Amino acid sequence: MIVGDLKPMDEIVAMIAGYRKILVLGCGSCVTVCLSGGEREARQLARELSHPMHYQGDPPEIRVGSILRQCEQDLVSAYQEVAPDIDAILSLACGAGVQTLGDAFEPLPVLPALNTTFYGASSKPGVWHEVCQGCGDCLLSHTGGICPIARCAKSLLNGPCGGSQNGACEIDPNTPCAWMMIYHRLKKQNKLHLLDRLSLIRDWQSAGGAGPRVRIRTGIGDPQ
Ligand code: SF4
Ligand code: SF4
Repeated sequence: MIVGDLKPMDEIVAMIAGYRKILVLGCGSCVTVCLSGGEREARQLARELSHPMHYQGDPPEIRVGSILRQCEQDLVSAYQEVAPDIDAILSLACGAGVQTLGDAFEPLPVLPALNTTFYGASSKPGVWHEVCQGCGDCLLSHTGGICPIARCAKSLLNGPCGGSQNGACEIDPNTPCAWMMIYHRLKKQNKLHLLDRLSLIRDWQSAGGAGPRVRIRTGIGDPQ
């Protein structure tokens, strides 16, 4: 899932300066699960932003809404109403949702309340770890199901580097070395021979090196 964090309040307040009627819009998917951008968080943010202490004059009027997925333009266009007097939307979605709203309601300004941070998995309640960078050419079958692109600080395809110390990453001793984890996983799987395979220079076009990526699945509506 996509993980995001609420921006610092002073940054949000500066972003909405000058707008008088603002719709704070939550998103009901990934950012709800990671407790940063759902309906409840939208209401909390609206309450905070209504406080006069953030403004020299009167606070703006803040309204609140939420939609299941801000990143689907047909859902947004069909179900999200924006009153004509609203002069900005403050979105609690990931960057994909913010941009989809911006397209759907152009020229209304759509502002990001979150910093979109990573594709993560939850290890225990309230804790998410980055585990994937959406590289478009998944190599987990060669690495024991542990991603070196997302989980090695240097995204090494042939590791470990020379700095791995006692199983910890040299960049952050509190983070396990991804290549140490890969080694131990492959050992348990009796697949250590996979480490003999040297990854050649990778073609990063699949990871976005050739510009924005598009996926078209035919047979579902109009792919255009
Ligand atoms: S190899 Fe690529 S697709 Fe697979 S987990 Fe890592 S970043 Fe994600
Ligand atoms: S110590 Fe391990 S995880 Fe850290 S940069 Fe080196 S290979 Fe990657």
